Amino acid sequence: MPNSPVRRPARPRSLRGPGQRLVGVFALFILLPGAFLGVFALRVLRQESQLARQRTRESLERTAEEIGRDLDSEFRRWNDAVRSAASLERPLVVNSFPEIVGQAFAEPGGGVFLSMSDERLEVFPAGAILYVSRSPAPAQAAPSQPLVGLAEAESLEIARKNYPSAIRAYRNLLDSADAGSRPLVLQRLARTLRKASRLEEAAGAYRDLRHLDAVWIGGLPSDLIAQAELCSLASERGDTADLAQEATAFYRDLATGKWLLDKPRYLYYSDLGRTWCRDSRVEAGEFNSLHATEGRRLALSRAAENFLDNPRTVLPGEDLAYLAFRNTDPFAAILVSADVLGSRWWQRILSSRWEDLEGVLYAAEGSAVFGSPPPATPPFAVTRDLRIDDTPWLLQIWPGRPEGIYADIRQKRTLSLTMLGFVTVLLAFGSYLTVRIVKRELEIARLRADFVSTVSHEFRSPLTGIRQLGGMLLDGRVTDPEKQRGYFKMIVQESDRLARLVENILDFSRMEEGRREYRFEPLDPSPWLRKLVPDFGSEIAANGVTVEANIPDGLPSISADGQALGSAVRNLLDNAVKYSPGEKTVWLDAEAAAGAIRIAVRDRGVGISEQDQKHIFDRFYRAEGDISKRVKGAGLGLSLVQHIVAAHDGTVECRSRVGEGSTFTIRLPTAPVKKGG
Ligand code: ADP
Repeated sequence: MPNSPVRRPARPRSLRGPGQRLVGVFALFILLPGAFLGVFALRVLRQESQLARQRTRESLERTAEEIGRDLDSEFRRWNDAVRSAASLERPLVVNSFPEIVGQAFAEPGGGVFLSMSDERLEVFPAGAILYVSRSPAPAQAAPSQPLVGLAEAESLEIARKNYPSAIRAYRNLLDSADAGSRPLVLQRLARTLRKASRLEEAAGAYRDLRHLDAVWIGGLPSDLIAQAELCSLASERGDTADLAQEATAFYRDLATGKWLLDKPRYLYYSDLGRTWCRDSRVEAGEFNSLHATEGRRLALSRAAENFLDNPRTVLPGEDLAYLAFRNTDPFAAILVSADVLGSRWWQRILSSRWEDLEGVLYAAEGSAVFGSPPPATPPFAVTRDLRIDDTPWLLQIWPGRPEGIYADIRQKRTLSLTMLGFVTVLLAFGSYLTVRIVKRELEIARLRADFVSTVSHEFRSPLTGIRQLGGMLLDGRVTDPEKQRGYFKMIVQESDRLARLVENILDFSRMEEGRREYRFEPLDPSPWLRKLVPDFGSEIAANGVTVEANIPDGLPSISADGQALGSAVRNLLDNAVKYSPGEKTVWLDAEAAAGAIRIAVRDRGVGISEQDQKHIFDRFYRAEGDISKRVKGAGLGLSLVQHIVAAHDGTVECRSRVGEGSTFTIRLPTAPVKKGG
């Protein structure tokens, strides 16, 4: 039957319809919710990090409150210590105070307990402060009875300047004086000896005086007078070694608070002591350490002076601040350096709450009492007003290592982002796979539908032909025997075509199910091909097309299923004819190659584009273009060819150029093949 144009349903070449729907469904159910989730997750992340900061800040706020409570209870403990010490029997001992107070007292300038009874100031421990602004009013050991002869001796010394007589008089007095009066007489004697330029004797007298129990003479302790005079004598003599020794001892006694003097006297003697030390080149290390000790005690002394003038809780100093814990009746107070409290309390209070916590506590007037103010507001800093011991304070705390908190936040964010990224990639990959699979399934479904409709059309035209020809013959309308023969021949040809079509479909179905079986036998290609050509030629002769065969003799034998291979070659020839409209010749060439034979089917037809060449061996595939619309076909022929050739361990390849024609070459190995399926 000629290739009469058949009406075929318009073939959908693209998947735009279902594809668009698919994209739509995809966007609606996966991408849109995915994007939504992504945005939502990012928002949650941002909120998370804000929340983490907020939590840190809240925790710091709580900590600040707790620190306030801690400070309050510490203050209460110190106030209790003062109260109980104020009411204790005298003399006080260090054990009268809680341990931490005792520790503060033990440090030079660390702390002092002051109390007032009968208008007399009591300082504990002795030597904690170096001076008081009011008179110390210590119990002065006045001579137990007026010294008879003292006035006379003094008159000899001062008014008459009769030093030898005065010296004698003093010495006589010394013999008769009691312990309470001896220092006074000895001091007068030493003084007069000095005036008389009997320096050695004067020094001896002062040394004796130094060793006596001290009494106050003219507002100064007698041993202080003796030590100062010994320094002065050594200085006058230019005896640097002696001066160094005396001056060190004197300055040490001053700096360690051996004498509680009034302020002007202390400052005067301290100045003198330092000058002597420097003049005699006292060893720098020792001097500096004494000087530092004195500095700390002086600072505490100034704080005490301030406090006594104006009792209050915080006493800001030049370098150090002091806190005062006090009791009103009887008046008593503990003054303690903020430095000491800082190292004992403050660090403990901070570190017990939060690792690496830093902070500063400001007194009401703005000075930092504990901790040092940060140069700039640190991250996460929390500031709080506190009221401790009825005094307003300002507390600022902040984490010493905010990087830790940031790192924590960052770590959580990175983790969440990684997971989000992972889910996104997974979603994208899953979506891609789904789209691919669905697309392929759609394509196959479409191809199957196409196939059914194409096959129906393929069947219809030969059947119609057979039906018409048969009908005419049956009715006896054709009487000419020659015509009758021609009609019968056409019926046979159409039936062959139908049979081939059915065979192709059955082959394909077997192939699809993996049931196609081959019977391999030794096959001599030359005669086999030569027989194939006229069989096929007679089918197409009606169209005026001929097969020009070029089959050499003696091609090497192959192992093949002759019927299957014949169907493959016929399919190629069929295509060559179908896709060469207007051309009257197709070619079949065979040749021997190394270890193989080659069978090539060539035409000068429409050719196949490079793009289509990649797919023509796929099942159901039909190239784009007019020719495919005009020419019947189910897209099965070449996939069958490929399957058959592959079963023979061979290959099939296509060379084609659009408009010039195509050549399909089957290459089959000559080695015997034993295969069954
Ligand atoms: P069909 O039944 O469509 O011929 P085939 O599997 O035999 O199916 O071929 C697949 C497609 O390859 C054809 O639709 C056609 O577009 C193209 N094709 C096959 N052989 C040729 C040829 N000789 N010349 C041009 N195109 C061809």
